[in-house]
Amino acid sequence: MSALTKRPGGAAVAESFATQLLRWARTHGRTGLPWQPPPGSLADPYRVWVSEIMLQQTQVQSVRGYFQRFTDRFPSLGSLAKADLQEVLAVWSGLGYYARARNLHRAAQQIEAAWGGRFSDRAEDWQRLPGVGRSTAAAIVSICFGQREAILDANVRRVLARQVMAQEPWGSAALDQRLWQEAEQRLPLRRQDMPRYTQAMMDLGATVCLSRSADCAACPVVGFCQAHAAGRVADFPVPRAKAPRPSRKAFWLLVVYQNQLGLWQRPPEGIWGGLWTPWDIPAAEPWPQGSEPLTMLRHGFTHFTLEVEVRLISPQTKAGMLSLQRQSRGHGQTLEFRPLVDFLALGLPAPVRRLLASSGLAG
Ligand code: SF4
Repeated sequence: MSALTKRPGGAAVAESFATQLLRWARTHGRTGLPWQPPPGSLADPYRVWVSEIMLQQTQVQSVRGYFQRFTDRFPSLGSLAKADLQEVLAVWSGLGYYARARNLHRAAQQIEAAWGGRFSDRAEDWQRLPGVGRSTAAAIVSICFGQREAILDANVRRVLARQVMAQEPWGSAALDQRLWQEAEQRLPLRRQDMPRYTQAMMDLGATVCLSRSADCAACPVVGFCQAHAAGRVADFPVPRAKAPRPSRKAFWLLVVYQNQLGLWQRPPEGIWGGLWTPWDIPAAEPWPQGSEPLTMLRHGFTHFTLEVEVRLISPQTKAGMLSLQRQSRGHGQTLEFRPLVDFLALGLPAPVRRLLASSGLAG
C-alpha cells in the first residue's frame, strides 16, 4: 500500500498530487522542445512518437538537433513510410542504437498499411508496433489524445521509488509492478489535464529529482514524498542486487633455488598477460614431492575472485631444480631462475608482489 492509499481520502490525496504537479508545470515545465506544439495547439502524434523513440536511450539535449534533422527530411508519416531504409539510417546516423530507426521505419509502414495512415488514440494499438513499449505508448496517447494512461520511464521510476520508499531493487519485476500501480493512482481525473501531467512527470525527473541530487526544496510533490520525510532520499531507488562474485581456485608452487626464484612468463593474452607468476599447478595434478604449505591468497578480478593455495619448494641440488623445471615445462610453464630484483624489473602482478613481500623474499 502506498502513502497515497493509506491516508484517509486516498483519491483526494492522489488528485492533490496531480494538482500540485500541474500547478508547478505551468511555470516550471520545460517548454520550447521541438516536438512540443505551439501554445494552444494539439500535439502532433507523429512528432511526439519520433521524439519518444529518440529519447528512449538519449538525453533531450542530444536529441534536439537529430529530431530537427529527421523531421526536416521526413516531415510526415507518409514520407517516412515511403523512404528507403538506408536513407533513414543515414539521417539517424550518430544517434546510435540503430534498431530504433529500423523500428520507426517498419512501424511507419505498419501504420500506413494497418491503420490507413491514421494515428490510433489507444495505447494497446501503439504497443503492437515495433519499438513501442508500454510507457512510450502511454506517453503518446496521453500527450496527443488526453488518454488517462500512466508513463513509467526511468526518470519517473526514480521519482516514484523515492515517493513511496520502494524497497524492491531497481530493475526488478516487483519494483515495476509496484510503481505501475503508483503511477496509475496519481493520474489526474480530467482527461484535458493529461498532456501537461505526462510532460510534468517527465520534467520533474529530468530537472528536479535527479539521480545524483534531488532538489527537494524545489519539488512540487515534496509533501507526498516518504523518502524526503524520512531524510533518506539518497537510499532510493534501492540499487539492483549484485550477484555474488564467483570464486576460482588456483595452486601455485613457489620454487626457490640458491636465492633465485623460479617464475614463468604468462602468455600475452589472458589474465596477467606477459607478467611473471609462480608455477600454476593444474588442479588435477599432485603437488611435487617435498613442497610445504606457505600461505593462502585472495585476489579480486572484476568477474571473479581468485583463491590461491601457495606452497614452497627449495630444491637442494641442481638436479632437483632441473627436474622441477622439466615438470613445469610439461605444463607449458617453463620456469626461469633469476634473482628477485630482476623479476621486479620485468613485471609481477600485485598479488605475487604481496606474496613475495609477506614471505620475506622481497623487501
Ligand atoms: S521530494 Fe525530493 S526525493 Fe521526493 S520526489 Fe521530490 S525531489 Fe524527489
